[in-house]
Amino acid sequence: MNSLKNMCSFSMLAKVLVIVGALNWGLVGVGSLMGSEWNLVSMLLGSWPMVEAIVYVVVGIAGVGMLVGCKCAQCNSCNTCGTTQSSM
Ligand SMILES: [Zn+2]
Repeated sequence: MNSLKNMCSFSMLAKVLVIVGALNWGLVGVGSLMGSEWNLVSMLLGSWPMVEAIVYVVVGIAGVGMLVGCKCAQCNSCNTCGTTQSSM
């Protein structure tokens, strides 16, 4: 995994969004076990169902983006090993 300074803004944004999504899912799970609703996105944006849906979609896209990996030069250059990553 690249450090933050080696990532382009897209990768950084994707990483943040995926983490936010993961934390929210964790909260939903814990909240569900506690018998309550802890969906932060729903709490914050519940009044705007469209915006809430868009957030979920954007987090999903960010997840796909991380899965596929960014193809820009900044993300594919590794300062420590000097090789390109994600070569399958
Ligand atoms: Zn990139």
